[in-house]
Amino acid sequence: MAHVAVVTFPFSSHAAVLLSFARALAAASPASTFSFLSTAASFAHLRKTAAAAGDLLPGNMRFVEVADGAPPPDAPPPRRMAVFMEAAEAGGVVEAGLEAARAAAGGAAVSCVVGDAFVWMAGDAAAKVGARWVPVWTGASSALVAHLRTDALRDDVGDEAASRADELLTSHPGLESYRIRDLPDGVVSGDLNYVISLLLHRMAQRLPRAATAVALNTFPGLDPPTVTAALTAVLPNCLPLGPYHLLAPATTTTAPADDDDDDPNGCLAWLDRHAPRTVAYVSFGTVASPRPDELRELAAGLEASGAPFLWSLREESWPLLPSGFLERTKQHAAAGLVVPWAPQVGVLRHASVGAFVTHAGWASVMEAASSGVPMACRPFFGDQRTNARSVSHVWGFGAAFDGAMTRGGVATAVASLVGGEDGRRMRARAQELQAKVASAFDEPDGRCRKNFDKFVEIICAS
Ligand code: UDP
Repeated sequence: MAHVAVVTFPFSSHAAVLLSFARALAAASPASTFSFLSTAASFAHLRKTAAAAGDLLPGNMRFVEVADGAPPPDAPPPRRMAVFMEAAEAGGVVEAGLEAARAAAGGAAVSCVVGDAFVWMAGDAAAKVGARWVPVWTGASSALVAHLRTDALRDDVGDEAASRADELLTSHPGLESYRIRDLPDGVVSGDLNYVISLLLHRMAQRLPRAATAVALNTFPGLDPPTVTAALTAVLPNCLPLGPYHLLAPATTTTAPADDDDDDPNGCLAWLDRHAPRTVAYVSFGTVASPRPDELRELAAGLEASGAPFLWSLREESWPLLPSGFLERTKQHAAAGLVVPWAPQVGVLRHASVGAFVTHAGWASVMEAASSGVPMACRPFFGDQRTNARSVSHVWGFGAAFDGAMTRGGVATAVASLVGGEDGRRMRARAQELQAKVASAFDEPDGRCRKNFDKFVEIICAS
């Protein structure tokens, strides 16, 4: 019987993605044992935010806590990440987790380590216990190509990233549609010694050497052939089996639309009151937040657009909204609803949503594409610029703001997406992608389903 350890990167939306991925694996292989390794803080967060928390753990899966490296209690997230990665790199964190998993499973040795690719040291830990390492890449294929080519890109660009920002990367296979400015932070620009830059560079060096297979959060027909060719040249064993949120068994993110546990703020009932494709949904994910002046511009632009809007905005930002904004939206509840959290997958699937104003985090891009919703992207950091470029220039199912949002820019973008000619064209492109996702998942021989089955076979092989 296989004993699979699933190692998370216990920050931002990463652990939630891995949890839903692990639940899908556990459901697909009921005879195998799954140990889900994360930190105490990450487990607390998952229990609080995961939909239908009571259903978090299938019977063949258990949580196993790993050390977080003991950051100071008031440390901000980047410091926590650095402390965790330093502790993991020094050795011991994942190794101790695998040992705890073995003990908790009555001594059954871990036979395979599935892990968020960010935690590249899981490959070394797996090798030490004689297990396979099968990483899961949660981002876009184009971003992975950029990380795999980091050394070549740095050789090419050197310290000219700013002066050559608009230059297309025509000599880098797979990146021909991207400009230097679209590369993920930490490849050729930004702080190359930032904890995430360092870990992605190391990860890219390890993947080709140590991974048995790599799960990709994409589906056939999404990535241009040059991107697929660039990836498979380096990682011949990569398996496109996304969007990952569609793998989850029905008890979590796909829970019934009227389930209060999943939708405590009544977003779906509010959407029911609106006409098809009229509402703008706004969210910048779990980490990014616009600066106060930009937030006020966005609020003013949403009001000026005349479109009803549903805005998922963390409560700490509510005091930054323009004076009277929340009162006005409360009074004219048909016009706008601001909530601290929305069941995004269900929201994007709702017929009344006609536009998505977003930071272009990869999970959000996949959720929009698989629901046929066009996007207006305001990328902030990490891989978000690369994703926004893909949406606007590679797939054409959205537009990207040029820098910070202004009220005029927001009003025009939203009005165009819900009612304009450009919006109709972009929605048609989004719907083409939605159809490709559906055939990759729903048809009995759909490629993503098949690749998922192959992935399960690889990780559960004895
Ligand atoms: N999300 C959600 N409700 C919200 C805001 C975000 O369910 O109100 C989910 C969203 O569906 C997505 C994840 O949080 O799955 C955000 O991931 P993404 O990669 O887009 O951005 P990140 O948070 O990693 O920057």
